[in-house]
Parts: sequence; C-alpha cells; structure tokens
Amino acid sequence: MKLLRDKILSEGKCLDEGILKVDAFLNHQLDPKLMEQIGEEFARRFADSGATKILTVEASGIAPALMTGLKMGLPVVFAKKQKPSTMEGMLTASVHSFTKWQAYPICISKEFLKMEDKILFIDDFLAYGNAALGIMEIVEEVGAEIVGMGFLIEKEFQNGAKFLREKGMRVESLAVIESLENHEIKFKE
Ligand code: 5GP
Repeated sequence: MKLLRDKILSEGKCLDEGILKVDAFLNHQLDPKLMEQIGEEFARRFADSGATKILTVEASGIAPALMTGLKMGLPVVFAKKQKPSTMEGMLTASVHSFTKWQAYPICISKEFLKMEDKILFIDDFLAYGNAALGIMEIVEEVGAEIVGMGFLIEKEFQNGAKFLREKGMRVESLAVIESLENHEIKFKE
C-alpha cells in the first residue's frame, strides 16, 4: 500500500535491533485518515474471507482493527495484555514480546469469542509471529476458526509471515520491509 509505505519513509525511525518506530502515526499519535484507508484496504483484501469478527491486541492494533471492522460491518474484540480482576471465564495465552524481551499474557473473555466465530486477526506489526501464535492458541481453544491475518507492517527478515503460512494461515501485509540494516528502511519490491 503506497500511502503507508510513504508514511513509513517520511515519519518512521529505525532503532537498533530491527525495530521500527512509528509513533507519529500508529503507536502513539494516530492518523485517522490513514487508518480509514487501511481499513478500506483490509476490507477489500478480506472481502471473500467469510470473517464474522475481528480480533486484535491492545493497544496499537485497535485503531486499524476498528477501521477494518467499520468498513466490513463486523464487531471488533481486542485481547487485553493483563488479566483484568473483573473478568471471569477468560481465555489466555502467553506471548513473547520481541520489543520488550519478556512474556506477557493476552486475555479474551469467553463472552466475546465463540466456537462459531470466523476470525480475522489484525495487528500493527508482524515480526516473528508470536502475538499471532498466541491468538491462534486462544481461538483453537474455543474451537473457532481464523480465516485471515492482516498486518500493517511486516518485517520480512524476521520470518513471521513464513512461520504463519507454514501453519496454514492466510497472511496479508500492507507494507513489507525487507531490511532495516544500517538504519535504512528497504521495502520489498
Ligand atoms: P511478533 O509477535 O510478530 O513477534 O511481534 C509483533 C508485535 O511486537 C506487534 O504487536 C508490535 O506490538 C511489536 N513489534 C514488533 N516489531 C516491532 C517494531 O519494529 N516496531 C514496533 N513499534 N513494534 C513492534
């Protein structure tokens, strides 16, 4: 998606260890118009998926997931990153965080994920696929189905897409980064 690639080039910053900082439009400040267009693009790509619900992980997945839900007319559920004391009947998985180098739990209430659900998972970044794997575990636990996974930014060199496709997932990424070597953002052609 050219618009997103341009935004990454003009406002993204490469940190050490293969991390891209996009606080200016996705991870801190949000660009609503861009999010709307991202929602439209995911809606177009997953129009034939048969999805009945969108799942994401708080916090940065929420904006693009919400816009996708709006464009597809689907409800959006976000996994919480800690166990809320008020939540009973939870589904949980442990996710290894690539940016923080530690594991964190993700939790979804059984109320909002049912066996008959066809899930479209949307997230900001795809690195190694750990967050997606945690979502797969939770969805599997209730016997629901994942019909697609959409990421705004895939860092191809961390092999998350390969890992997920080998597990049978349909993966769509709007911007695919081939390398961040020498602090230079290189997209896959
Ligand atoms: P994965 O679970 O695929 O290994 O990593 C994806 C998750 O880690 C995303 O949800 C995102 O929060 C975080 N992440 C991974 N790589 C980056 C990055 O380069 N920049 C930012 N801002 N977050 C990242």
